[in-house]
Formats: sequence, structure tokens, C-alpha cells
Amino acid sequence: MHSRLLLRSELRQNISIAILGGGITGLSSAYYLNRRFPNARITLLESNNRFGGWIQSSRHDVPLHNAPGQCASVLLESGPRTLRPVSKPVLELINLLGLQEELLIVPRDTPAAKNRFLHLPGTTGLVRLPSSMASALASLPSSPVIRLLARQALAEAFRPANSKVLALEDNDESMDDLLARRLGPEAARIFGSAMIHGIYAADSRGLSVAAAFPMLAAAEKRGQGSLVRGMFIPASKAEEGEVYELGDVQEMMKGASVFTFREGIGALVSALTKDLKTAPQVEIHTGVQVSGIRPSEDGLFEISTPNSTLTASHVVSALPLPALASSLSLSPTNQHQLTHLTANTASNVAVLNLVFPASHPALQAIPPGFGYLVPRPEAGYATSPPSDTDPNAVERAILGCVFDSCSSGEQDASPTPIVKLTVMLGGPHPLPPALAPPPGGAQTLSEALDPRSELTAKVLRALERQLGIGKELPVPIQVVLHRHRDAIPTYRPGHVSRMKELQEALDRAPWNGRLAVVGAGVSGVSVGSCVQAGREVGRRWDPNFV
Ligand SMILES: Cc1cc2nc3c(=O)[nH]c(=O)nc-3n(C[C@H](O)[C@H](O)[C@H](O)COP(=O)(O)OP(=O)(O)OC[C@H]3O[C@@H](n4cnc5c(N)ncnc54)[C@H](O)[C@@H]3O)c2cc1C
Repeated sequence: MHSRLLLRSELRQNISIAILGGGITGLSSAYYLNRRFPNARITLLESNNRFGGWIQSSRHDVPLHNAPGQCASVLLESGPRTLRPVSKPVLELINLLGLQEELLIVPRDTPAAKNRFLHLPGTTGLVRLPSSMASALASLPSSPVIRLLARQALAEAFRPANSKVLALEDNDESMDDLLARRLGPEAARIFGSAMIHGIYAADSRGLSVAAAFPMLAAAEKRGQGSLVRGMFIPASKAEEGEVYELGDVQEMMKGASVFTFREGIGALVSALTKDLKTAPQVEIHTGVQVSGIRPSEDGLFEISTPNSTLTASHVVSALPLPALASSLSLSPTNQHQLTHLTANTASNVAVLNLVFPASHPALQAIPPGFGYLVPRPEAGYATSPPSDTDPNAVERAILGCVFDSCSSGEQDASPTPIVKLTVMLGGPHPLPPALAPPPGGAQTLSEALDPRSELTAKVLRALERQLGIGKELPVPIQVVLHRHRDAIPTYRPGHVSRMKELQEALDRAPWNGRLAVVGAGVSGVSVGSCVQAGREVGRRWDPNFV
């Protein structure tokens, strides 16, 4: 792996770091560790044949039927597609990697930022969510669900504090429990479940507040029991955190709602890998599967791969936690903490990219906006996977739809206008076989679908009903389906305490704090949280390790 084999004595003189997993967490870890320990030898091992993990942006030439012989150049995302400017770690990375020119920023005053919708199961059409107090007041007369939200939010500020919950230091509960306690079960189901579908593709009844939305628990404390009051009280400086090297990026993000890059979120992965490939002390490898991590008697670690063994003084695991669990041998006394690595489940998600010629009247009937989310149905989720012949299976599995052209249309170049939509399905909804993750354990499968296939038609009919456009959508010019297995971890309540216990075990022999476990499975699934984890890893390590 390394061009020159290192003697064990050399390894013990200088810190040498093995990074396992080349998703955004592993790549950010390599980038920041190389800055922190410029003399350290860093080796990153990724099992896949490309870096980026769940981040995958791809450009497609799509023939235009209404302009024979011509193609649209379309950027499609199978994973994350927009990031939030509050995420300072990502802004810092943009500055350090010089990605300013690549940015596509969605200003807060554009329809893509202001217009977000819900589709309520069993109804037709969309409900616009208020983007300001004025728009909330304007929609009160016509929208029963906005009236419900307004009524509950107003009442919440005066509802007595749940003092037992506030008194507990390590209290945790599900998102649904917190929102139902403060806003009532109906508002929790409609608004809370939809938000969790959009971020975690998960059931809000099984997602930890402390792990996924610590700011809500903090707001409840600041507001002395009221979330609404807490939101109006600014967080203390300590809660706000630390200083980042933002350069001009913070200024560029003034007034931004979300952002992406001309070549999609993959631009971050490309820039990181380009930087790491030119760093003399860093080696990054694809196609290398880690199968074992073992402490050796002289205090070093041995990382087994099918063809070789890598020896390192420090290890960063940026693997999905179940993959780490199967590679790691903790001592029998630490078996309890090892089970923490497999305590959470992760959502299977199907992502369907659709590209249409924009001229069709049905597409013009789609309101400008970011997209819509679908809350949990009143009757809950189905408990077993539907068959492919179930006519409503596709519609029932839809979590939401992103109107990509509205927020990131500048990524595409086309001689005639196009419309790009992405439909997200699955999560807590069992998927029919045609949308379920690939057989044989593969993590993901991406394939172009026949735009005239039965599956595409089912998706289009479902979209027509959910959008309430009253017209048939045209046959798309491109359809790409991505079927992801275990894509987004669902932190079960108690996750923060379990991770603390795991950390305590890793601080003890034989790991002695030199195996760091980071990534989406640990401290936040957003790209920003993953970059933050990479930025912080190894802060406690001694550069003069001997
Ligand atoms: C469909 C979807 C949409 C999303 N949308 C957004 C969004 O809009 N905004 C946002 O902020 N976040 C979003 N996310 C979340 C975010 O993209 C992920 O949480 C994040 O990319 C995870 O990064 P990671 O590096 O921690 O993990 P991963 O991306 O899972 O990387 C882990 C890496 O480890 C490798 N690996 C696994 N086993 C081994 C082994 N044995 N040996 C070596 N390598 C191994 C894997 O191949 C992988 O490359 C989305 C996620 C998905 C799936």
C-alpha cells in the first residue's frame, strides 16, 4: 500500500494514521488531520471503487425529443442535494478548498426558499407551509392544518412546563414524544413526521431528540419548558461554538437559504480527493475493504485487508457503525459497548430522478418551490412490504419530492428548457420489490429506467395526485432509480449515552483513545455534521506519540 514499507520503530516515532472509509467523514478527517499533523503518515482505505460514500453527483447527456439531435446536460444527485449555510464546517471547507466560484446559492427571498409544501395522505394537492408570520396569517382562513399549527404554537407558549423532563440531566425521548407533549399529537404527526421524513427518512416516533435535534431540547430548557419561547431566546455564546476560517464565504452566504455547487455536492468530494492526492504524506485508496482492526502488543494497530495488513499508531473509523462492528474485536469486558455499534437501524431509501421537457402544461402547473413532504398517514405505516402489483404501493411509499429545477436549475444546460424532479421513497414505508434495495447485500444500485415502464407510470400518476395538478405529466426524457440499503441511520433514544459509553471504552486499553469512531452513525447525518466530525477528530492526539 505504502510505496515504502515502514519499520515498526519508525511508526512508533511518528504518528501514523489509518482512516477507514472514504465518505465525506473519512475524506474530511484526512484533510484536517493532514493540516493538524503535517508530519504524520496518513492512509485512507475505501472499499468502494470511488470516494464519497452517499454523496454521488453524476452528469448525464439526455437527448431532447423536442430538439432532435440535441442533448441537455443534466446533473443528477442520488444522495444529498442541498446544504444549509448555518453549517459552518462546510463553509470553512469551501473557503479552504477554494470552491467559491462553484457555488450555487438559493437566496431566502426566492420561491425555491419560500415555498415549501406538505401533501397530506388521502387528499389531493399541496398545502403551502408559511415562510413568515405574514404568510402564516394570510393562510389561516383557507388552511385547516396551518390553523392547527398556529393554534398549537400559540397554546404551547402558555402550556405548563414538563418539569420532570426538564429536571433530568440525560433525558432523551423520541421527536414525536417531544412534539406531541408540547404541540399535541396531531401537529406532531403532521409537521414532525414530515420533517423527519425529509431529513432522516425515518419514523419520528423512533428518533432520539438528544441525538438528532439537540437544539430543540436546548430551546425547551431556555424557554423554561416552552419550545416557542425558547426559540425567541438567543442561544448562549457557549452553545454557539467555535471559530471557523470562513474567508469571504460567510459574506457570500448572507441571505442564503440553501446552496449547492455547479457539479453538485460531489464537488466537495472531488476537491477533497484532489487536495489529498497531492499531499506528500497522504495516500488514499479505493477498492480496499477493511476486514479487521486489531491492537497489537507493542501498542500499534493492525488493519487487515484482503491483500495486506496496514500498521498504524492511530485509527479513524469513518465506516458505517455495523461495518465497524464486524471488523472490530473489543475485549470481552467491552462487549456491552460493542453492541452499541449495532443499536440503531438505518433507512432504506429509493431515490428517483425524473427529467422532463418543460414546455408541457402539466409541468407548468407545478408551483415554484423547494418541493413537498408527505407526513405519516393517520393509520401509520404498513407493516409488511407491498407487492409490485399493489396499485397504490408506490404512492404510499413516497416521502416527498424535490423540485430540483427551481433550486438548482443552474446546474443544467439545455437548448430547450427542462424540469428536473427527485422523488424520495421508503424509509419507514416498506418498499415494493421494484424499489427495494438490491438483492445480495449491495449497498446501492443505480439504473436508468425505461421512461415508459409501468413503474415510471405509477410514479407519475402518484405525483399528479399529490401535486393536485389535474393533468397528466408527460413521459420523462430521463429516469434514473437509485435503490439504497441502510442509507441514513436512525438514532434510537439513548444514542448519546450509548456513544458516550462507547467512547469511554475506546479511551481505555487496548485502544487508549487512539481509535476514533466518527461519521453519520455517531454525531449527525448531515454533510455539515460529518465534516465537523472530521474537523474535530484527533484533537486529543499527541503529535509526538512514542
Ligand atoms: C438519499 C440521501 C439524501 C441525503 N440528503 C442530504 C442532504 O440533502 N443534506 C445533507 O446534509 N445530508 C444528506 N444526506 C446525509 C449525508 O449524505 C450522509 O449522512 C453522509 O454523506 C454520510 O457520510 P459518511 O462519510 O459518514 O458515511 P458514508 O457516506 O456511508 O461513507 C462511509 C464509507 O465507508 C465505506 N466502507 C464501508 N465499509 C467499508 C469497509 N469494510 N472497508 C472500507 N470502506 C468501507 C463505504 O463504501 C463508504 O464510502 C443524505 C443521505 C442520503 C442517503
